[in-house]
Amino acid sequence: MPVRLLIILYLFATLLPLCSAWLQGLAPRSIADELASGAGSLALAVILAEFVLLGRYRFVTRRAGTDIVMRMHQLLARSAAVLAVIHPFFYTTRRAPAPDWDVSRQFSVTHDFSAIWPGIIAWLLLPTLVLMAIGRNALAYRYETWRLVHGLGAALIAVFGVLHALRAGRYSADPVMVYVWLVLLGGVLFAFAYVYVLTPAAQLRRPWRVAAVRPIAKKTWEVTLRPERDTAFHYRAGQFAWLNLGHNPFSLQENPFSISSSPASGSEVGFIIKEQGDFTRTIGQVQPGSRAYLDGPHGHLTIKDHPAPGIALIAGGVGIAPLLSILRDLRATRDTRPTTLLYGNRSEDQIVYPDELESLARDHGTHLIHVLSEPPEDWSGETGMVSPDLLRAEFGGEEHKHWLYVLCGPPAMIESIENTLMALGVPSGKILSERFSYD
Ligand SMILES: Cc1cc2nc3c(=O)[nH]c(=O)nc-3n(C[C@H](O)[C@H](O)[C@H](O)COP(=O)(O)OP(=O)(O)OC[C@H]3O[C@@H](n4cnc5c(N)ncnc54)[C@H](O)[C@@H]3O)c2cc1C
Repeated sequence: MPVRLLIILYLFATLLPLCSAWLQGLAPRSIADELASGAGSLALAVILAEFVLLGRYRFVTRRAGTDIVMRMHQLLARSAAVLAVIHPFFYTTRRAPAPDWDVSRQFSVTHDFSAIWPGIIAWLLLPTLVLMAIGRNALAYRYETWRLVHGLGAALIAVFGVLHALRAGRYSADPVMVYVWLVLLGGVLFAFAYVYVLTPAAQLRRPWRVAAVRPIAKKTWEVTLRPERDTAFHYRAGQFAWLNLGHNPFSLQENPFSISSSPASGSEVGFIIKEQGDFTRTIGQVQPGSRAYLDGPHGHLTIKDHPAPGIALIAGGVGIAPLLSILRDLRATRDTRPTTLLYGNRSEDQIVYPDELESLARDHGTHLIHVLSEPPEDWSGETGMVSPDLLRAEFGGEEHKHWLYVLCGPPAMIESIENTLMALGVPSGKILSERFSYD
């Protein structure tokens, strides 16, 4: 599904309640009252439609990419929180039981507690959840705990928000509007069922076994999985999967990792995993033969849909994982387009598969540039960071404007490289990036 169609569908879902309220043709109220209702409806619709972004539907992550999906999610949730918070303060009509003659509630706003309590809960929960997400790194609990709290909180906001709209909303008395809210709430419940029930249930039928766990660089491991049954796992070079090692598929213990193998290399799937926190630090203890499950493939970091005369792969640290998959695939499919790999690390012992990279440079013609910020004394390659000057020197030619750029690494590095490439005249549509952060 093209990204444009996704955006249109998203806008349709968020604007549907407002349009259906407008089409009811009720007697107008003061501008402030209409703004209050509009802000509340829009905030709720945005929150409900957010679950499409987060439902891990492949047609979304495959097209838009996780980076864009996560940035959209954050922006929309923050905007919805602002709208929801201001919504009750706009009402100017008297807060009293509607007189008998005011059947369309043109001159009154309900203050009946049984109608507004679900709204109060949602109203308190939404900004709390947004603030907790913004300050997540400062909160000292495990990612899995945060994910559970965030998911449950979001579900409660959706349910209480819809209850409030149905009980207290002036326009929600209309049967079409009731239907609209229930359909949107149905989408939320389906997203939950899809991620936490349907997908794990499907994974039960496709178990994997750990074939090997090997140290390949400083604090970096390669994990290879083999399918337990003869079922195909179709992915594209550069995509990622949620990996669950040693837990049942219904547990929340799963982490996203890019696939580093090439789809052309057979049924085994490889991952390069850097020690970061509580789960990744235990990778070295995983025993071959352990049970594993995969949810995927996800992600848009694939060169297949992007024809270009040349390919630039720019990696920072473990961001090499998806780019190695792409390089291996280019070699396996005998793709002879000019290719450059710019690979930044802090120290030499962090470079993964230096020999394989050298052989790619030798046999496949990949132009390989290592950049080290803490080089050893006898280092003859580039030093420092992947700087604008280095990018200009490598990709400043006229022909490079038409190349495809695939970036993966720490967020700050990606942002700076994106800015430099665009300043060099590379269109944003020719830059694919993934920041390895899923908040
Ligand atoms: C699309 C994508 C692809 C990735 N590919 C790779 C890869 O190929 N190799 C690699 O080494 N790392 C990769 N990462 C990063 C990797 O997922 C995290 O380093 C890992 O999950 C950290 O887990 P932890 O429990 O060891 O660390 P923690 O200390 O628990 O977490 C460190 C940070 O990692 C993130 N994180 C932790 N758990 C999860 C989770 N269950 N889901 C989502 N994010 C989580 C959070 O931002 C957290 O703050 C990728 C991330 C994303 C989003």
